[in-house]
Amino acid sequence: MEFWDKKTECMGRDEIEQIQLEKLQATLHRVYKNVRHYSKIFRQVDFMPEDLRTFSEIKALPFISRRDLSENYPYDMFAVPLREVVRLHTASINFDDPIVVGFTRNDLKNWAELMARNFSAVGIDKDDVVQIALTFGITTGPFGVKVGAETIGASVIPMSSGKLPSQLKIMRDFKTTALVSTPTLALSLIRQMDEMGIDPRDLSLKYGVFGSEPWSEATRDEIETKMHITATDTYGMTELFGPGVAWECLEKNGLHIAEDHFIPEIIDPVTLAPLPPGSEGELVLTSISKEAFPLIRFRTGDLTRIDYSPCACGRTHCRISRIFKRCDDVIVVRGMTITPDQIARVLSRVSGGETVFQIVVERSDGLDQLTLLIEISDVNFFDEMKKQRRFVEQLHRELSELVGWEVTVRLVEPGTFDSQKKVNDKRRFQ
Ligand SMILES: [Zn+2]
Repeated sequence: MEFWDKKTECMGRDEIEQIQLEKLQATLHRVYKNVRHYSKIFRQVDFMPEDLRTFSEIKALPFISRRDLSENYPYDMFAVPLREVVRLHTASINFDDPIVVGFTRNDLKNWAELMARNFSAVGIDKDDVVQIALTFGITTGPFGVKVGAETIGASVIPMSSGKLPSQLKIMRDFKTTALVSTPTLALSLIRQMDEMGIDPRDLSLKYGVFGSEPWSEATRDEIETKMHITATDTYGMTELFGPGVAWECLEKNGLHIAEDHFIPEIIDPVTLAPLPPGSEGELVLTSISKEAFPLIRFRTGDLTRIDYSPCACGRTHCRISRIFKRCDDVIVVRGMTITPDQIARVLSRVSGGETVFQIVVERSDGLDQLTLLIEISDVNFFDEMKKQRRFVEQLHRELSELVGWEVTVRLVEPGTFDSQKKVNDKRRFQ
């Protein structure tokens, strides 16, 4: 079993909690002093950073949500002056609920270390050639993968989102041994290999590290069997670095959270009460090493459970179960987060009134597709076909612009779908 930092990854529970307490105290002092939002909400619950004596007292602090981050856009959640920030990213490509995250030089160094641990945990090392087939853009994902792979000394191919035949040509010619992408892209590559008559066994591919969207054990089986590789899951989100928050080891039995950088909690998403270890609930994370953009008790919206039992790999950091569900209506499609609220805003702008709609997410040909069903009503019923077509076309254009790819828009008779259900996610994750 490979370790990037055995001392840290295998330390005892007491030692982990001691480190967490010290780093948490330092983080709380910093955010209280430098971020107005935190000093305000701490004062509301009558909490001063020096009050925190024991680890469990974190539960006295208020939660942070994405809404808080948007409301403080662009820089009011930063805990350092902008001159100390060396990188900026956004958590989402749409600017209706914008969130910007910053990294100091130290933050980037820590991120690289975390991704290096992730790669080592799955057997990738300096002899490997890592092909990153994630879109390099304003979101963090591929940048963390790149620095992590460079840190372990692997040869990095920043392939980004090239066409499938180009991905395969590079994979074959450059002798790629590790693919980092979404699981959906891996499935598309398998089909493309078939079409091009490429036998995966003739390639050098050994590993796949997949993330950015939920994927099932059945998908893992399919990828592993057809690509002849070991496929592992990685978890993170831009608000908390991006990838490098938690990852699977080769036991493939949950994802180890980097507990020297994050404190995880599980809460009931309705009552917000803390839940005992082993219960399924919403994952809440506190970052304890980030300098530019620390988050205290951040509600991730992801449903999971925490397992503190020992892992056969020897790592002592707790594991979260693989994430298939969210506790809100946020959907993750092609690595992007989309909410019904964002869709509703576009709809009301275009239609000028209240519209009943449902977002349908399906996976076809290995790619996630979005269809917006809209109930025909007075607001969007036009006697003239031309007017109706123009309405649908404008919606199609604006929504496709919002998400970054083609969205299908269909007007349907009332009663075609359950109007209480804003999202109908037909992808099978379990
Ligand atoms: Zn393990």
